[in-house]
Amino acid sequence: MDPQLNSEVLRTAAAHEGPIETDAVVVGAGPVGLFQVFELGLLEIKAHVVDSLPYPGGQCVELYPDKPIYDIPAVPVCTGQELTDNLLKQIEPFGATFHFGQEVTTVQKRDDGRFFVATSKGTQFLAKTIFIAAGVGAFQPRPLKVEGIEKFEGTQLFYRVRNPADFAGRNLVVVGGGDSALDWALNFCAGNADGSPHKAESVILLHRRDGFRGAPASVAKMQELCDAQEMQFVVGQITGFEETAGRLTAVKVTGSDAITRVVPLDVLLVFFGLSPKLGPIAQWGLDIERKQLKVDTEKFSTSVPGIFAVGDINTYPGKKKLILSGFHECALAAFGAAPFVFPEKRVMLQYTTTSPKLHKVLGVESPVFD
Ligand code: FAD
Repeated sequence: MDPQLNSEVLRTAAAHEGPIETDAVVVGAGPVGLFQVFELGLLEIKAHVVDSLPYPGGQCVELYPDKPIYDIPAVPVCTGQELTDNLLKQIEPFGATFHFGQEVTTVQKRDDGRFFVATSKGTQFLAKTIFIAAGVGAFQPRPLKVEGIEKFEGTQLFYRVRNPADFAGRNLVVVGGGDSALDWALNFCAGNADGSPHKAESVILLHRRDGFRGAPASVAKMQELCDAQEMQFVVGQITGFEETAGRLTAVKVTGSDAITRVVPLDVLLVFFGLSPKLGPIAQWGLDIERKQLKVDTEKFSTSVPGIFAVGDINTYPGKKKLILSGFHECALAAFGAAPFVFPEKRVMLQYTTTSPKLHKVLGVESPVFD
């Protein structure tokens, strides 16, 4: 994320005594959770946002920050990170408070109609409404199961690429058969398309079989690069490793011929996919179908009035797990929540183009129309 944008836009929580009283708690700061803040803000509903990750953006930032997205309406192309940065800019007027690096663990309905919400770090809220925008749950990379290798995690063993420049000029072994493994192997082999110097010294792609789940075009490109001896593809599984003076120096790879070969390396990048963990959400007494929250399509309410579910976490007939679907759901959920926050008030739909009231909440000047 642009660090300047980060500090300008993100209001993170200060220490607070006792539970924080709020109109809404948004669980998840993925694209849909962020846009939920916008739709709530237009209705003057104040929100606190909690995410188990240390930064906003959900899957867009965690899984594909540099990949182009082409199906956001009126944005012909943007990367996952750019989408997140733009959403943060868009929600800036509403001053939501963010609580990162903590999982929402507890949700309990109280007698006064509000919800008690608590996180893994002990932050507590009393909220009139809850918006669960938890995507696929708090997701974690599937680990490489080789005894003792975990001690190299974060120094020589990585499950994600945060900064490609860290791996330039290194001898890489990239493990996996999906798009992430292929894309990163190609990326480090060829250097970046923009000419930035992310080229590794050597790249070995390692997969347990000679067949890939990734895009056929990437597989073809990989084969081309192997033929040109720009990279190597090895079939086999990691069954052990070698270390010298506390540094990982090689992995032992057992092939389908049952022979174990030693493959030297500087860095091991493992992409076995993510295993989504619905985690505590399953304990909150909500109707669940195949690890997703059942909602109606009028208000995107869960089975508990006052708790809404938007984005990838919900399910309903015809559901498509797309960012644009999540954005639509946020608008309707915000209107669905208004009676819980303002029981005395009738909330009407207004246009951001023409409504002086919305201009006020957005902090913009009302244009003069002829
Ligand atoms: P997420 O992005 O999953 O965010 C959910 C957030 O909730 C996460 O940050 C998680 O840490 C947090 N969370 C979960 N549980 C808790 C908890 N208990 N407490 C606190 N925080 C919690 N969609 C498109 O429309 N177009 C595309 O081109 C596109 N390309 C994609 C490419 C890839 C490789 C992938 C994997 C997905 C792609 N998608 C695309 C899908 C899109 O990313 C998802 O639909 C979108 O991210 C869903 O947003 P969300 O906010 O609902 O959930």
